[in-house]
Amino acid sequence: MEEAYNELRWNPLLEAWIIVSSRRRGRPWRSGQCPFCPGAPETGYGWDVLTLDNRFPALRADARTSRESKDLYEVRAGYGYCKVVVETPQHEGDLSDIPFENLVKYVRELSQVTRELCSDPEIQYVMPFRNKGEVIGVSLTHPHSQVYALPFIPPRVQRELKSMERYWRERKSCLLCRILELEEEEGVRLLYANDGFTAFLPFFAMWPYEVHIYANRHVGSLTELSELEVVSLADVLKVATAMYNSLFDFSLPYMLIFHQKPCKLNTEYYHLHLEFYPLHRERDKLKYAAGIEWGAWTFTYDSLPEEKAAELREALKKGLVELRSKGYEARGKPL
Ligand SMILES: [Zn+2]
Ligand SMILES: [Zn+2]
Ligand SMILES: [Zn+2]
Repeated sequence: MEEAYNELRWNPLLEAWIIVSSRRRGRPWRSGQCPFCPGAPETGYGWDVLTLDNRFPALRADARTSRESKDLYEVRAGYGYCKVVVETPQHEGDLSDIPFENLVKYVRELSQVTRELCSDPEIQYVMPFRNKGEVIGVSLTHPHSQVYALPFIPPRVQRELKSMERYWRERKSCLLCRILELEEEEGVRLLYANDGFTAFLPFFAMWPYEVHIYANRHVGSLTELSELEVVSLADVLKVATAMYNSLFDFSLPYMLIFHQKPCKLNTEYYHLHLEFYPLHRERDKLKYAAGIEWGAWTFTYDSLPEEKAAELREALKKGLVELRSKGYEARGKPL
């Protein structure tokens, strides 16, 4: 068998870890039998939601490095876990298509997987995420999410932690709770709210149809959600994806990221939220993160967020009608 290496290489300019794994070739690419359908070798039968090990993990518990550190070139073992959460036995569809009870189990599973992976002494951060659509490079269409358990806190979350910590220290209150208040005051970018969560297109969106979902209560991680909040999160996920899929006449590709507090630090100021980044800027145009976005980390937004929010509100109405026609009554209301 070919040697496998999983290591972290430090980028001293950006002060960020790069995850390097040498045996990611040969990933499945839309061919042959679906590995996530019931009855496949790794799945068996009799489940609604199933967590599997990624067969080609970027990080692993028995990681080996290809070389030693030298001077600025620091190398560490790529220790961690890459899990796949198969969201439903159904082979096709989006979160909006998954039967509601199944979707509630999916949210519970993400919470449970977070708890388990965070309990590993070496793991600093657990990030569930969901990539959807060929343009995002998804190799398997069967609805699934991924969970990465990292031995470090990733830079974007570190940046959020820093901002939230400073606001907490200076104002004795939470930055995200305040953003939620401001969005409610201005109203024009709000989309949907239920008992536990609120969805809106943020004032500071980077992607044209970016949507954030904040927990209404100041809570740090999926593992702290009440049963009602778990159900509310499943509801807002169903509604938000129905909204996206009603925006144009096709199922909208997106990335969905769960931002929760780190495993080990005491970060009472961190506020659980989800971020959707769809790639489209118009029906037939993609927004690429290109020169200015990658080279400068400065995003350009080619319309007003309020205009895009208005489009999403229309799509939300259609999405709710669509859900109702399939027998699902949303638990919250459009805003
Ligand atoms: Zn399948
Ligand atoms: Zn808060
Ligand atoms: Zn975030």
